Amino acid sequence: AKNQGGNRYHFFDGRMHEAVIQRLQVENDLRKALERNEFQLHYQPQVDLTDNRVVAMEALIRWNHPERGRIPPDRFISIAEECRLIIPIGRWVLQEACRQAKLWQDQGLDPIRVAVNVSAVQFTETDFAETVRQVLQETGLEARWLEVEITETVVMKDQEVVRSNLKKLKDLGVFTTLDDFGTGYSSITYLRQMPLDGIKIDKSFIRDLETAAPSDESKNAGLVKAFVNLAANLHLSLVAEGIETEDQRRFLLQLGCSRGQGFLFNPPVPAEEATALLRSKG
Ligand code: C2E
Ligand code: CA
Ligand code: CA
Ligand code: CA
Repeated sequence: AKNQGGNRYHFFDGRMHEAVIQRLQVENDLRKALERNEFQLHYQPQVDLTDNRVVAMEALIRWNHPERGRIPPDRFISIAEECRLIIPIGRWVLQEACRQAKLWQDQGLDPIRVAVNVSAVQFTETDFAETVRQVLQETGLEARWLEVEITETVVMKDQEVVRSNLKKLKDLGVFTTLDDFGTGYSSITYLRQMPLDGIKIDKSFIRDLETAAPSDESKNAGLVKAFVNLAANLHLSLVAEGIETEDQRRFLLQLGCSRGQGFLFNPPVPAEEATALLRSKG
């Protein structure tokens, strides 16, 4: 395929050529991935930082490619968005995560929320809330156990559709969170305008939280402190992601953030391992 492509794309330079072929290949393979069952969800616990109890699970998609092995989401989500395959893929993620959350409840585990990442392309569909309603009905999961994570790129799109979808999700009883909080330009404006339930502090604020030099430390620590106050004043729930060290955990607690997620507690794991984890730490 590469040699044939070489003739068709000869007007690009070599690297560009490779990138184009690669992208078309991914798109082509993505089209078949759903029906061939190549996607899988991994789950990463969100914990109470005071006692490490699991309070929610975030679903993160994995693509097990038959020849190329596991392809991380950062390598295919944006391509899926461009060719709009993210719509059926995103519906599958929603369906699978809700099915799993219901299964955990049916197995007698304490109910926890399952958090699903939703792309801007999906969220700006006018019928997104209706899709969610259908999936909840099909899986039998109560709305309050579903959390939808959106990023600021969602909120920057068609604001009326986004606000309307958030409102519809709220009416259903679904929990909504602004992910990667603090990385965009206007996060705070959106918080005022959009009916959200929570924010998730981006991992870039956590990375150097405790290790930075005293003069520098005040920056990330000061920002996290500000996010804590902001969340409290706006009655939003608050979670920190990317917690990797015990020092970070302790420091976040001192700053008033009591929920978190990260390799310190658990990496994302397949459903069976997540089930075992819930049995021991639920
Ligand atoms: P995200 O939603 O911000 O997810 C957090 C990412 O950080 C995950 O990467 C997770 O594995 C990783 N992570 C967790 N704990 C730590 C930690 O302590 N340190 C560090 N450095 N990283 C940590 P992953 O699974 O590769 O996902 C990457 C991104 O792909 C996600 O970022 C999300 O934007 C997107 N994504 C994943 N699954 C889906 C999905 O089902 N739908 C959509 N639309 N996007 C998804
Ligand atoms: Ca997320
Ligand atoms: Ca995030
Ligand atoms: Ca991210």
